[in-house]
Amino acid sequence: MKLQSCPCCRGKAIFADLIIGKGSRRVKMWQVSCSGCGLSTEMDEDKRYTATRWNRRQEYANLKMWVTLLAALLPVSIIISLLLGNLMGISLIS
Ligand SMILES: [Zn+2]
Repeated sequence: MKLQSCPCCRGKAIFADLIIGKGSRRVKMWQVSCSGCGLSTEMDEDKRYTATRWNRRQEYANLKMWVTLLAALLPVSIIISLLLGNLMGISLIS
């Protein structure tokens, strides 16, 4: 399963495995972490699930970036609509 680059620093993501417990109760846990800034997922027994979670986080980060961008552009669009409204004789304030 391919890991996407880090949403924070664009660094390379790596798998880390940890053995937890003793004897027959030993469980292998997986974690994806960034080799650049150390950002990591929670540990899970399912390697594939851990990778999915990491990649989802990347998608959320992309989404967040777009939301931030839209929020930054919003005041401009309000100004434009106000100007257009005035030009067409429509007041949005009243
Ligand atoms: Zn990083």
